[in-house]
Amino acid sequence: DPPAEKHEYQAEVSRLMDLIVHSLYSNKEVFLRELISNASDALDKLRFLSVTEPGLLNAGVDLDIRVQTDKDNGSITITDTGIGMTRQELVDCLGTIAQSGTAKFAKALKDKDAGGDNNLIGQFGVGFYSAFLVSDKVVVTTKSPKSDKQFVWEAVANASSYLLREETDPEKMLPRGTRLTLHLKRDCKDFAHPERIQKLLKNYSQFVSFPIYTWQEKGFTKEVEVDEDPAEAKNDSEDGNVEKKKKTKKVVERYWDWELTNETQPLWVSFYPDVLLSLRNPKEVTTEDYNEFYKQTFNEYLEPLASSHFTTEGEVEFRSILYVAAINPSAKEDILNQKTKNIRLYVKRVFISDDFDGELFPRYLSFVRGVVDSNDLPLNVSREILQESRIVRIMRMRLVRKAFDMILGISKSENKEDYERFFENFGKNLKLGCIEDRENHKRIAPLLRFFSSQSEGEMISLDEYVEYMKPEQKDIYYIAADSLTSAKNTPFLEKLREKELEVLFLVDPIDEIAIQNLKTYQEKNFVDISKEDLDLGGKNEEKEKEIKQEFGQTCDWIKKRLGEKVASVQISSRLSTSPCVLVSGKFGWSANMERLMKAQSL
Ligand code: ADP
Ligand code: MG
Repeated sequence: DPPAEKHEYQAEVSRLMDLIVHSLYSNKEVFLRELISNASDALDKLRFLSVTEPGLLNAGVDLDIRVQTDKDNGSITITDTGIGMTRQELVDCLGTIAQSGTAKFAKALKDKDAGGDNNLIGQFGVGFYSAFLVSDKVVVTTKSPKSDKQFVWEAVANASSYLLREETDPEKMLPRGTRLTLHLKRDCKDFAHPERIQKLLKNYSQFVSFPIYTWQEKGFTKEVEVDEDPAEAKNDSEDGNVEKKKKTKKVVERYWDWELTNETQPLWVSFYPDVLLSLRNPKEVTTEDYNEFYKQTFNEYLEPLASSHFTTEGEVEFRSILYVAAINPSAKEDILNQKTKNIRLYVKRVFISDDFDGELFPRYLSFVRGVVDSNDLPLNVSREILQESRIVRIMRMRLVRKAFDMILGISKSENKEDYERFFENFGKNLKLGCIEDRENHKRIAPLLRFFSSQSEGEMISLDEYVEYMKPEQKDIYYIAADSLTSAKNTPFLEKLREKELEVLFLVDPIDEIAIQNLKTYQEKNFVDISKEDLDLGGKNEEKEKEIKQEFGQTCDWIKKRLGEKVASVQISSRLSTSPCVLVSGKFGWSANMERLMKAQSL
């Protein structure tokens, strides 16, 4: 055997490994995501080069990734049939931080001269060295199509050097590509369970565009003929003659085989029309495909109400499929205080996270679920990055816009019940949006629905309200109440009824706050008809003066009697049949709001 050569790592590599191991110790499982992503990159490179050099694809060798666990020895092997590495590439790629994504990380480390900045690590793909999060020893054997020879790179954790040699063992020869063997640390042996690895892969690497197989134990039952136990047979037979009888028995036959682990690939292929099978295109994907994908991805049993599949280009490129859930996933809980895990972010088809707490997508839209894939973000993107990143801000803006388009689509659907159902489920979320998301008022407001004094039990949109406004009417009138019945019977309505002015009934506790946040719709102010300064026009100043003189003293007398209980007593022109009404001050809370505040403080 040619002797193994000892090579020193570039100084930064040792430091980097140290840092990775120390800052990610509680997040060890990322190693799998990183190594699968490298395998996928290597396959991508091969596929790309083979377009001009078809000879690179040796016949009969598929482009795939295989992960095998060995429980007994506590090891994992990850094999890909990608581009592999030459001897020089091994030295360059796994001994230095020259070109890899981790180079940026090392540079940033240098710039900051941070000995162990935990925030930094989140900003860059930690890459190959994450293997040492879980391994005592890593062995890489690799064969590039550019070379006849196969080489082995081998290193133990916490060392400053690695070994390099040529592979000579005929049993270990690869047709092409790379095999990593991870000898797991004592406290990481769990990862060598096939079910564990399969579960991690399903979560992290579901959408890698190459098949990933895991080595799984399987079993099937078969019936075998067995001789009956002679002792038993004797007891059974009445005449006492021992007679050999045949009996069948069910036994489970166990065996091991490769199992495809990333099953959602077909849709993914369409999701990536330019990758893999460039002939397929999103138009070929049926609604059933989308629904199935949704159900699988989000563990749902109900079909979504709507879906939207799009690609954005330009400043930031990403692909996404968004859905509107059929029922509110957070119905029973406080919409704003729960983590909904509704958006799954992938970077280059590798799952990054679904735990964003509103950075990538506003929380009030938690009923919109979807997958987003970007090539422009680092693999190990952290919460901090998400908060600061311009890319994420742009993505969020576009996603929200698409989400609203999708909801608008439902509202315009011929099947009116769809939107009724939608609003019943998610109306509250939209109203929260009025409070939380000023920027999108223009998109949210047309989606709101309210009962009104003229709508006969049906809900109307603000557009419908405006359409039926009287020619001289300037404002949109509303009254907040705790029920439809009390809204209908309020004395405040009298004058408006007489004049046939429509009034919105705000009966959901959040309605009034939402409307107050909107302030206007199509440049018309929202006006609370229970406030003291309500002006319905048509004032007659002469007459008012007369009345004031006649009843001024009566007002003073009433005020004296009521004292602190009221702020003032005034003559009003807003009633037609009721003798008096209690109104709220111009700047004070409405009666409804007061009720709300009281309820909150209980
Ligand atoms: P990055 O993936 O960001 O480049 P990594 O640390 O993950 O950084 O990997 C370093 C380099 O090692 C890669 O750029 C690639 O050249 C090489 N490499 C790693 N894994 C493989 C593999 N399975 N097949 C071929 N090359 C690989
Ligand atoms: Mg990598």
